[in-house]
Amino acid sequence: MDRLKKIWADPVWSKVISVGILGLIGVVYTSIQGLWPTIIQWVFSETKIPNWLLLTLCIFTTLFIVKIGRTILYRIKPKKEENKQTQELYNQDLIFDILWHWTNVNGRILGLIPCCPKCNYELSHKSRFIGLGPDIVFNCDHCNCVVAEFRERVEDIYDRVYKEIERKLRTNNLPARKPPKMKLPSYGTKWPS
Ligand SMILES: [Zn+2]
Repeated sequence: MDRLKKIWADPVWSKVISVGILGLIGVVYTSIQGLWPTIIQWVFSETKIPNWLLLTLCIFTTLFIVKIGRTILYRIKPKKEENKQTQELYNQDLIFDILWHWTNVNGRILGLIPCCPKCNYELSHKSRFIGLGPDIVFNCDHCNCVVAEFRERVEDIYDRVYKEIERKLRTNNLPARKPPKMKLPSYGTKWPS
């Protein structure tokens, strides 16, 4: 194959081959030129073909067309279908830098679990008081890092996540079914021991 490519890339050889092909086409064309009326006549003439042969050919042709059609359809369709998220299967999403898991019972969101977007370990949250009100830190004990920080009460964070999930469900703005792209926490700070 490489040799053929080399020959084709060669300016002299490629010209020789081109001329040869053109010559061959010319020869074939002139030799069948006189036959055109006969060919056209043959195409439009009738042939005695046994019905069983005609039927068999029809069946095979239909099967062949169906097979080609299905192959083309499967090539276009599956990817879209695979990624298509359905409201019933929507049970995890990356919201506010946290990978949330939940159970979807007939459209009701139950049991929100905050997980690490890097390792999927369940996060623990701790509150710090530094004089400016509540300061919640979601920490991954597996990666030993801070995943997200909030300046509000835990209940309010959960409430916002519920509302965000419901908004996505209402607008049907759901992510692809494959797990959301793992986004590394930008903080990277270690929880003080
Ligand atoms: Zn982790």
